Order: sequence, then structure tokens, then C-alpha cells
Amino acid sequence: MEDLKDFGEPLEFWEYFYEITRIPRCSTHEDKIREYIKKEAEKLGFQTEVDAIKNLVVRIPSNRDSEGNKLGVVLQSHMDMVCEKNKNIQHDFSSDPLKLKTIEIDNEKWLTAEGTTLGADNGVGIAYQLAIMKKIHDGSLDFDTLDLDLLFTVDEERGLSGASQMDKNLISGKYLLNLDSEEDDRFTIGCAGGRVFKAEVNYEKELISTPNLRAVKISISGLLGGHSGSDINKNRGNALKILTEIIWKINSKYSILVNSLEGGNLTNAITREACAIFFLEKSQWNEVESFLKKITPNIKDLYEGTDSNLVISIELLKDFTDQTAFSQDFQNKLIDLFYLIPNGPISLHPTSVGLVHTSLNFAVVHTLENVIEFKVSTRSLAQYDKDTLFEKLKTLLKTSGLVINIEIVTIYPSWPPVFNSKLTEISKQVYKNLFDKEVIIQAIHAGLECAFFSHYYPDMEMISLGPDVRGGHSPDERLNIRSVSKIWKFLLTLLKNLAQFNE
Ligand SMILES: [Zn+2]
Repeated sequence: MEDLKDFGEPLEFWEYFYEITRIPRCSTHEDKIREYIKKEAEKLGFQTEVDAIKNLVVRIPSNRDSEGNKLGVVLQSHMDMVCEKNKNIQHDFSSDPLKLKTIEIDNEKWLTAEGTTLGADNGVGIAYQLAIMKKIHDGSLDFDTLDLDLLFTVDEERGLSGASQMDKNLISGKYLLNLDSEEDDRFTIGCAGGRVFKAEVNYEKELISTPNLRAVKISISGLLGGHSGSDINKNRGNALKILTEIIWKINSKYSILVNSLEGGNLTNAITREACAIFFLEKSQWNEVESFLKKITPNIKDLYEGTDSNLVISIELLKDFTDQTAFSQDFQNKLIDLFYLIPNGPISLHPTSVGLVHTSLNFAVVHTLENVIEFKVSTRSLAQYDKDTLFEKLKTLLKTSGLVINIEIVTIYPSWPPVFNSKLTEISKQVYKNLFDKEVIIQAIHAGLECAFFSHYYPDMEMISLGPDVRGGHSPDERLNIRSVSKIWKFLLTLLKNLAQFNE
């Protein structure tokens, strides 16, 4: 790899970033990186504190003694990284340093790791914080009136548990800058909250006695899937919705006996694959097969260009030995319910064009011994709407006529966007002055740690920002080298402005 000095300002960022890529820090294994940051801070004379869930804060006090003109600002990143590698690569994330290299794409220089994730998510945040800390210590930076809290959270990637269980006394301040965004031309100022619930429906299997029945399997595959929040507006097919639509139509035309329905694994992913097994009179096979052939183009048309590789297949199962099915009454009610469960964007934000306000993902269905289990994930920028959607879903389940037990799996607050907060206004101005361009101000439909911070500190204003990172959470993850200096320049100017603003 090239000399770090060639990467542009500030050298401290690159030295720390490099150092961090040598320290193991997969989610829930943050001990070594926390120790490193803590030691580094204490070596430079700064106080640190760790809360019960093991989030770390480094305190950099202002120069002012009096209580008068001090302003609290929190800079925040998360310590863990997604540990993904290519199958053909030998790499032990618990001990091996990442192997860095630079590549050129579109005339831009990027830093990446050989065969593994780079951990720019969120190593860049950590490196910015440490570079600021070091430069304040050596006197080359001075934010005079600012009381800086450098917050490093644990376990962001697995489910935001560091932020959600943070000790509320760990940080204080008027503003918080979250350094976990990945596009240098936009700031995030809000995100959706969510609720995931699991439902269970008991049923009794009935033995099949009719002799001329054949087992048939319908499978949905070839879909893109994607994130159930940030990709929910892309008209991607949900395999479970497509499957239950087909089964409902077949069930209403032919006499079938359903054995099982299956689909999905994760509640935060759009379901890519699903299948159903049912029994059918031998004499009806041809008719059902041609009915499916007839409707398949209509279904595929709905995803033309957004999910073009959708495959809908039907087959006769030769050696299927499980001769059981749902009772007719249960089957009809369940298929009606699954057909009616909404999916995808439910509403759009009233003022921000194109932003999804409330959405739903019909995520998982499993046919287990005597119980059908299904999971639904809902998101909204507004708490009220999230609750309303949940009430509607519960009402729908009630009217199905089935006895359904509901259990909340996860619930997290939204970060309600305030498009004209003081911090947003100052940030927009600073960006424009520096780069002679308007920055894009956005809210997103996925969860961020700021949701919890805004819930715990309702008066704290926040933005989320960061340099260009692409291919996040995959071995293709790469960091735009030029972009690091750009965000560095922005950060310092913003902090200077906040410090002066406070005079
Ligand atoms: Zn991140």
C-alpha cells in the first residue's frame, strides 16, 4: 500500500484508521478496540468513562472555567464492524489484521481490504474522533468554548443494542454529530422507528385419505430482496406476498389441501424465496399448471425492470411422504389473512418528496409442528403512525377468525426529522460556504442509533454525516480517500462555527 502521507489531510486520521484495521472488532467483540481508544485518550490526558453495556466516552473539556459560555457537543461513532469475507479467503476476524489496498474506480482513489469488509463503517468515525482528540492535545486544534464528548458505542450492526441500552448520564450536550453516514453530499436528520412482531397460530393437521391426490410444490425465487427499510420503495417483489397471492387464487378455483407454507429468514430483509406444498386431485394437475402459466406473465409484469429475474415454478413431488394437511376451514382463513396482509410502502412523507413515511414487510412464515409462525416488520417516521399501523394489523388478525398469539420481537423509536433545526441550518450554511454547493438534507427509512439518542435527549439536535463509503457490509466495502479530507474540513469548520456561535 502507498504511504499514508499521500492520502491527504489529516495524517492523524489515516494513522488511526490504519491502526484500527489491525484491531479485531466484530460486533459484540469490541473489548480490544475499546481498550485501544481508552488507552490512547488517557495517554493524552483525557478522562474516559465506560457504561454498563460497555459504551465508551472520552471527555475533552472546554478551555473555559466558568459555567458561562460553554457548549456541549457530542461526536459519535460505533466501535463494531460487520465481519464479512469472500469464501475463497483465509481470514480470522478475531486475530488477523485487515489487508489494505488502494484501487481506482471512476478516476477516484479508494481504500479497500483484500477479500474482507474494510470496517470504514464505522472506522472512519472512530478515526475522525481520535484525530480531533490528538490535534486538540497537541494544540493544533482549539474549540475553546466546546465541551466535547467523544462517544463510542458497541454493537450497532447487530441491532443497535449499545445505543438502546446506553446509560443516559454518559453524555450531555446541545448537539450530536453522528459519524456513521456514507455519502459526503448529504446529511441525515431523521430516521424511521420500527416494530417487529411474531404471530403464532395453532392448528391440527388432518390425515389425507383421498387416494388420487398428488403433492405439488410452488416456489418463488430469483428476487433481489434487499433491506426492508431502505429498499422498501424500490418495488422489489416479496416472495411471500407473491406466493400467497397465487395460492389464494388457486384455492378459490380448485380444491386443494395445503400441507405447508414457507418463506423468509430475516425480518430486516425483503423476502426473496418462498414455497408452498399442497395436495391436488390428479385430474386437476394440468388445469392448475396451465392456470399458473396464464397468470405468471401478469405477475412478472408488475416487477418488470425492478425484479426481472423473478421465477415462479410448479412441480409434482414424487416422493413426498407427509400425508397431512390443514383443515379446510383453517386453510381458507389463513390464506385469506396472508393475502390481505399489506406489504411495502404504506404512506409517503407529507413534505419530503419520495420519502417513505410508513411501511411494512411481510417477512417470515414457517410451518412448524402444530403451529404456523409468521413475522411482520413495520417502520414509520412517526410514532403515532407506527402505532396506528400496528392497531390495524391486530384488527386484521382478529377478523381473520383464527386464534393468533402476538409477541413483540423488537421495538425502537423513530428519529423524527426536523428539517429546519438550528444545527441543520448551520450545517447547510457551512457546507455551502466551503464547497459552493447545497448539501442534501434527508431522512431515511432505516434505523440509526440517533433514534435512541433523540428518544433519550429530546432537546439534543443531531445530524448524521460521513465520507463516501460504498459496498457497505460486504467484502467490496471501499472508502473514498478524497472524501475523507472533505468531511474533515467540514467537521472542523462546523465545530469552529458552533464554538463561535456560542460566544
Ligand atoms: Zn455503521
